[in-house]
Amino acid sequence: MRTVKHFSPPQGPKIFCSANKSQQPCRQHAKREFRSVISPSEPQISLGGRGKKKIRHHQKRTRGDRWGKFKPAKEKGRKNSLAKVGATEGDTYPREIVFNEFYFLVRGNSLVNWQRKWDEDEDGRWLHSIIPKVSLKPWFNRLDLSRDFIRIFSRLMSNHCSLDAVLYRFDIAGSNLCSCGQGYHDIEHIVWSCEVHLVARTNLIDSLRARGKPPNVPVRDVLAVLDLDYMLEIYLFLKAIDLRL
Ligand SMILES: [Zn+2]
Repeated sequence: MRTVKHFSPPQGPKIFCSANKSQQPCRQHAKREFRSVISPSEPQISLGGRGKKKIRHHQKRTRGDRWGKFKPAKEKGRKNSLAKVGATEGDTYPREIVFNEFYFLVRGNSLVNWQRKWDEDEDGRWLHSIIPKVSLKPWFNRLDLSRDFIRIFSRLMSNHCSLDAVLYRFDIAGSNLCSCGQGYHDIEHIVWSCEVHLVARTNLIDSLRARGKPPNVPVRDVLAVLDLDYMLEIYLFLKAIDLRL
């Protein structure tokens, strides 16, 4: 065994280790190769504990092995016992939930329930078609708008305003038709087709074209996408015809 330890590789063709990516001659593999050449009938000679480690040094050495080698036996034993307990008894280590985590958990569940009820309900479908997703923030959040502007469009979104088509549903108005007799007295008819407001509508269409916007876009679509150009022109139109919502 000691003769092998002092052997130096011959100066012939270099022997490379297949596991060595640098493709440099591997001293340990050269020794093993030489022994198999000089005594092919003999079984492979073991180099002992230390020699085995050297032969395997670049075959199995990984970052995990390198660091795992220095782990104290006590720590390994503790982790093994925890793994066994976890495998047999399940999650036996519940951790405490901090307040912020609890708060967000409750709020998230509330929003999910709210969204489910909002989708499945039968009432308020007009508003659902405009704002399908529930939110804790109002639609005018972070928008620099006047109080009157917000009031008018909030009423139009919720479909709770003083137009006859709305009041008729609550038996407050005698009819849901417009005085022109050509349609319902709702915001769609008033803004885009009622003959009573032809002059104001001409100004509205001119202003929209100046902004590069086509007319006759449904008011509900304008509210759904929150197009402030349309909304501002409609607001001025409603002010021009002095319609109180
Ligand atoms: Zn009309």
